[in-house]
Amino acid sequence: MRSIAIIVAGGVGQRSGLGAPKQYASFGGKMMVKWAIDYFMLDNRFQDVILVHNEQVRAEILAALSANKGLHLVQGGETRSASCRNGLIRANEIGADFVFIHDAARPGVDSGTIDRLFVSLAEGYAGAVPAIAMADALWEIDGETKILAHGINRSNKVRVQTPQAFALPALLNAYSRLEAGAAFADDAEIAVNAGIKVAIVEGSPALDKVTFASDFARMENLICPQNTPQFRLGMGFDAHKFGDGDFVTLCGVKVPHSRGLIGHSDADVAWHALVDAILGALAEGDIGRAFPPNDNKWRGASSEIFLKFAIDRIAARGGKIANLDLTIICEEPKISPISAALVHSTAIACGIDESCVSIKATTTEQMGFTGRKEGIAAQALVNISI
Ligand code: MG
Repeated sequence: MRSIAIIVAGGVGQRSGLGAPKQYASFGGKMMVKWAIDYFMLDNRFQDVILVHNEQVRAEILAALSANKGLHLVQGGETRSASCRNGLIRANEIGADFVFIHDAARPGVDSGTIDRLFVSLAEGYAGAVPAIAMADALWEIDGETKILAHGINRSNKVRVQTPQAFALPALLNAYSRLEAGAAFADDAEIAVNAGIKVAIVEGSPALDKVTFASDFARMENLICPQNTPQFRLGMGFDAHKFGDGDFVTLCGVKVPHSRGLIGHSDADVAWHALVDAILGALAEGDIGRAFPPNDNKWRGASSEIFLKFAIDRIAARGGKIANLDLTIICEEPKISPISAALVHSTAIACGIDESCVSIKATTTEQMGFTGRKEGIAAQALVNISI
């Protein structure tokens, strides 16, 4: 059995207020019509996808769409039913048994609804539509203030969505009997009018039509998870050896100590771990890749430069640090007396509130290199919301 999806994108979309057909506008990072195209292209229950496009659609849009291998482009007609008829003729030429006709302005196609439609077809229905129960009170109005009727029974009313599935011969027959000038909202009405028994299956809120400009943000939030904040975790580790000196730099703070830390830069072990955590969260390499230790430019450099680079990378990706947790591992110097100063300087360098910065310290109970007081190690965990 051959099933073909027909995506109807022939409308002019005057109600969106965009001045151009909304199905070709950007929605969730790609052309709205691409959502449906991509869905049906990837669902292997469909052998072909036909796009019935707007006659005035710009050449570059058409070129971008035709780059989809296996997508059949068909020009639309004057009305929705004329556009659908063109799509059905092509589907018949290809040799479809079933067609799923879908509005391009409904980007949220889901496999659950498709499953239910296929079940109805398998049960022998020649047509099946997804529908949603009415949740809100229904009024009939005349203009903005005149209420003609209220308290309308909504329990027996549904909102009919697409895709609408049909046995192609039955629908073609219904179309052949369509009188010129007959106005039907969709194919299901044409089918019902022709006496085809149409099953009603549960639809999905994500299948609602994007009609008005105000629908875009609401439907994008519902359909495109990449538009809701994501959290990225990164971890970093660093260690530096003690050497000559009378202070160590931790989180940009000069901490008096009987020895210093050896390093190519200022050896700020805590912020080095933090920079690696940030770059790790972004999957953008590490501090050594960004600032090669064999590059003399970074000799003695303040780690503030490294941290600023990492913070700028977060900003460039449109993110911000949600919280960070740093653990400094050493026997000495004692961290607790200075931890508030380290939190303060780290919060300022990262441009975040101090409540989002945790600086902890631990020893390794005299074990290992930190236990033998050979140096200081640090671990950082960062949580970035993007
Ligand atoms: Mg280092």
